[in-house]
Amino acid sequence: MTDDCIFCKIVAGEIPAEIVHESDTTVAFRDMSPQAPTHVLVIPRSHYPNAAALAAGEPATAAHLFDAARAIAEQAGLDKGYRLVLNTGEDAHQTVFHVHMHLLGGRPMGWPPG
Ligand code: 5GP
Ligand code: ZN
Repeated sequence: MTDDCIFCKIVAGEIPAEIVHESDTTVAFRDMSPQAPTHVLVIPRSHYPNAAALAAGEPATAAHLFDAARAIAEQAGLDKGYRLVLNTGEDAHQTVFHVHMHLLGGRPMGWPPG
């Protein structure tokens, strides 16, 4: 738990969120500013600032994020596909420095991303 981290507070239940999936190592909840019909954030319970730090510190948990995303996509019926995004750093528009995987689906996505 990192005291000033909003996502640590969601993991701890100190800030409300619409949780859609949980495991021993991960929590997933709806993004408060959805960019697609399904927009879920999948995060590790442990605090790591970005995907590289998580992969180095808890590689099994990094894989669990992908397992959770698959389960959520199945549950949401995203059989036409979905996008997983891990914004890392300022240029990528990372605004919350507790690693989170965006799961976006329910509409066709453009490419290249903005
Ligand atoms: P980033 O820009 O860091 O990749 O994504 C951060 C995401 O977290 C944004 O899409 C933003 O809407 C979402 N977000 C920020 N604070 C909260 C919050 O308190 N609750 C929820 N549900 N989503 C949040
Ligand atoms: Zn945190």
